[in-house]
Amino acid sequence: MAPKNETMDKIVSLAKRRGFFYPGSEIYGGLANTYDYGPVGTELLRNIKNLWWKYFVQQRSDMVGLDAGIISHHKIWEASGHVAGFADAMIDCKNCKARMRADHLIEGYYDEQLKIQEENDKLGKGSYVPIFVVDEENWISNIIDKKTRNYQIEGLSTAKLQEVIERFKIKCPNCGKNDWTAIRKFNQLFPVQLGIVQGEGGMGYLRGETAQGMFINFRNVVDSNRVRLPFGIAQIGKGFRNEITPGNSIFRTIEFEMGEIEYFFDPETTNWEEAFEKWKSSMWEFVTKHLGILETNLKWREHTDEERSFYSTRTEDLDYKFPFGFKELWGLAYRTNYDLTQHSTVSKKDLTITDPYTQKKILPHVIEPAVGLTRLLLMVLIDAYTEEGTSAGGSEGKRTVLKINPKIAPYKVAVFPLLANKEELVGKAQEIYNELKQHFMVTFDARGNIGKRYMAQDEIGTPWCVTVDFDSLDDGTVTIRDRDTMKQERIEIAKLVTYFQEKLG
Ligand SMILES: [Zn+2]
Repeated sequence: MAPKNETMDKIVSLAKRRGFFYPGSEIYGGLANTYDYGPVGTELLRNIKNLWWKYFVQQRSDMVGLDAGIISHHKIWEASGHVAGFADAMIDCKNCKARMRADHLIEGYYDEQLKIQEENDKLGKGSYVPIFVVDEENWISNIIDKKTRNYQIEGLSTAKLQEVIERFKIKCPNCGKNDWTAIRKFNQLFPVQLGIVQGEGGMGYLRGETAQGMFINFRNVVDSNRVRLPFGIAQIGKGFRNEITPGNSIFRTIEFEMGEIEYFFDPETTNWEEAFEKWKSSMWEFVTKHLGILETNLKWREHTDEERSFYSTRTEDLDYKFPFGFKELWGLAYRTNYDLTQHSTVSKKDLTITDPYTQKKILPHVIEPAVGLTRLLLMVLIDAYTEEGTSAGGSEGKRTVLKINPKIAPYKVAVFPLLANKEELVGKAQEIYNELKQHFMVTFDARGNIGKRYMAQDEIGTPWCVTVDFDSLDDGTVTIRDRDTMKQERIEIAKLVTYFQEKLG
């Protein structure tokens, strides 16, 4: 569990250098925890979204889509419980005034202690570290799994967080003093003042999640579409959470892209445990097969009783091994019919669905798979990031390459003229570029030497580079260079489109 991470620094620097993402509002000094996606990042994000939609909506017969508003009625968030409960436990250092999340403060402390323990282990010194020597009966010792050295702090109650900080006399990472305020809850919803109406009447919220859009439109979807239980509503869109967060780049930002599904069913005819397992396999298949992520970097983690919402019967997270530890990628929760019950009660609208055969009225239960798509993007970059030696030598005999699944790579093909100052080569290359553009996202580069151009394409994960040389003008063939193997082959220009179509399946 390395704290500040070299891999992460390299990826963030690559992201800026090549145009995946930039710090938000940068020319005005930046705005904490916001990011803007550049030309290459925009393509990658769109490809991930499209693949998600294709897999979870287009290719299924039990799913429909929705695109609800971002600005929404304050009552939605009162009914959902977000106004009362959607809050971070924050703590302030009285000395230097630094404000941070109490759970993150403890996580930082645990990371440090675990490092000390690792050193002790190497020296054969045993446990001299406070987090390991607390009384076995004490719940604090149960936060840490002594075998795997994994811990779970997120989701602890305010009182328990306070107790841990006091127990270990955790110091401020900023100034080193141990002088804290009490922990206070800080609501994460962004209020919006609408029009000129002052007070509650003109008050809305930026949505904290897309899920509520599915619940409040449940009646509309049922009445306007031929859907029958079990069925799901899917949505891709922005969510907003006013969080104070530690670095880790785009892992946790105040504005982020979500992909959420509410899968509605009648608990009397659908076994929720079976449905839950099916969703687990779909999520796993999407991440491993379609995004091409290594299975060994993924694991399931069931929420503890304390983390789980009181209405949820089971919640599991699919965690990915980020350079800063295994962290949540995708949540899967069985939420019973809590949400529809809440909205039905507060809005006083009937949200039941009638079974066409039995005429039974059902207030469906839901299973909710919810993922941060911008978090998927970060995972794809981390998983694809490779530094390797090259037999060809290159400038220093090594290269950085993003081995992204070609299906989601920002550009599928880059087209080069061998020399930028030979009109006939440039003209032919442009002709090929214009043709390929009709079928794929393609880029063109005539700057510098071929080696530099390969290097630039490797760093953004372009699977194939096509080079037009003098032979091309005579025999109508070009060189295709493969990103991963670096092998080259000659292909007829006339067959290029089919060649790439076949490669992309
Ligand atoms: Zn301080």
